[in-house]
Amino acid sequence: MVQEIKKHPVVSTFKDYGTIKNWVNGIRIDADTSEFQNVYCPYNGKVLGRVPLSIATDVDKAVQSAQEAYLEWKKLGVKNRAQFMFNLKKIIEDDLENFSTLVALENGKTISEAKGEILRGLEVVEFACALPNKITGPKLETSAGVESSFTREPLGVVASITPFNFPAMIPLWTLPTILTTGNTMVLKPSEQTPLSALKIAEYIEQAGIPAGVFNIVNGGKEVVQAICEHVDIKAISFVGSTTVAKIVYRAAAQNTKRVLTLGGAKNHLVVLPDADLETSPANVVDSAMGCAGQRCMAASTMISVGDTDELIGKMVEYAKSIELGTGMGAIINKQNFDRILSYIDMAEKDGCQILIDGRGKTVKGMEGGYWVGPTIIDGVSPGAPYAKDEIFGPVLCIIRTKTIQEAVEIENASDYGNAASIFTNNGAAAKFWTDNASAGMIGINIGVPVPRDPFPFGGWNDSKFGANDITGDSGVEFFTQNKKVTTRWIGTQQGFLE
Ligand code: NAD
Repeated sequence: MVQEIKKHPVVSTFKDYGTIKNWVNGIRIDADTSEFQNVYCPYNGKVLGRVPLSIATDVDKAVQSAQEAYLEWKKLGVKNRAQFMFNLKKIIEDDLENFSTLVALENGKTISEAKGEILRGLEVVEFACALPNKITGPKLETSAGVESSFTREPLGVVASITPFNFPAMIPLWTLPTILTTGNTMVLKPSEQTPLSALKIAEYIEQAGIPAGVFNIVNGGKEVVQAICEHVDIKAISFVGSTTVAKIVYRAAAQNTKRVLTLGGAKNHLVVLPDADLETSPANVVDSAMGCAGQRCMAASTMISVGDTDELIGKMVEYAKSIELGTGMGAIINKQNFDRILSYIDMAEKDGCQILIDGRGKTVKGMEGGYWVGPTIIDGVSPGAPYAKDEIFGPVLCIIRTKTIQEAVEIENASDYGNAASIFTNNGAAAKFWTDNASAGMIGINIGVPVPRDPFPFGGWNDSKFGANDITGDSGVEFFTQNKKVTTRWIGTQQGFLE
């Protein structure tokens, strides 16, 4: 039986938010730039606002504000800082409907997908609430009368640069850990989705977090470059495409900053003939089509090992029941829309079978939007561009192999290494995949194997540059430095107290 799709529509009311500002020292301020870019609603192409393409002086103002707030914020101590996270969690939960509508509106996803990403972001806030219980350092008498200990200290002002596809969740991947460990912060959200970040700034203010602790500079690559070069920024986290992840990694390292950059992905999902026929079809399709495929965890290539035709048939049936505008949202912009369609055209020309075709679709009343329906392409060769490149749309390519060994070879030939899943009831096959797939996040009968806090999120290969992962305990390590204290009190060994 095919699982029923829940109706979780897109937003139906629109608003022009006007000129968007930066958020510095607790207030909205105009950027120094005279250059602006329209923010478009992906549902219908209408203008939602104009975002400033800020310049280096805007970054400097935000960093100064964060720098000034740092000493007092640091002094508060982790237990006091964590109290603000409890406030933040409650404030966002209470405003979940409004916030998810805004996220959906600027990103183009459905409201329930927007809710899902906010709730996932709130799990990191919850993790930060528990930090006082987690970051107690050890202490040991390392030789007679000598004690060693270490504590986790903040770095100072740190920056996060985020992509368009999760405008709430990805800022919330780092913000709670950054602030609770005592740092202050500058956020550079995607210029395509700046509204959710400003909403987060309002929540931060309502939570009572002092002005200057959290700042936003809107813009594009000029802001990123200024962040990488700013002498008072101690660490940078980045999430986005691999091309830009490499640029930021190099520029930040060149300026001797601590840096972690998460890049793009092309995730493989292996299906064996013994995979559960009831649950697997919907899980595989949801992984590929959720958020219209605009997820770094989307399974975009399925490797069918042996005969899985019955399962593929059910996948197609399920994918056909996904309705654009209720079950699936829109593509972020025209450029990405065109790119996705060109990959489908290319596969068709190459003689692949388009089992379900998402081209030429629209939603009534939203014809100006960028809509692509679920697309499943069979008979794909492993070397084809659509099998190797990140398409970042609702397109699932199926490659056929005879053995799981071949499937591992295909997965490991990919430049990327974010997620890799297997659907099977065979434990040995699952273990073989887990042991051999070159990816940071493995799923067994899970299409989107996102590790939840305290487990850290992060891929391998060209999906991540830097030693740490971005969330969980690994995120705490990235945003803190250890202070090691070695102590000897003269006299304690000589019976000083007698
Ligand atoms: P993007 O790389 O185009 O943009 C990300 C950020 O970099 C934005 O803030 C943008 O303003 C900035 N930027 C863009 N071009 C730049 C340049 N030349 N120099 C400096 N900064 C620049 O990514 P996107 O299109 O917003 O997001 C989609 C990409 O992000 C996909 O590749 C997706 O896989 C990836 N992503 C990865 C993860 C992960 O966890 N690995 C999570 C979400 C998204």
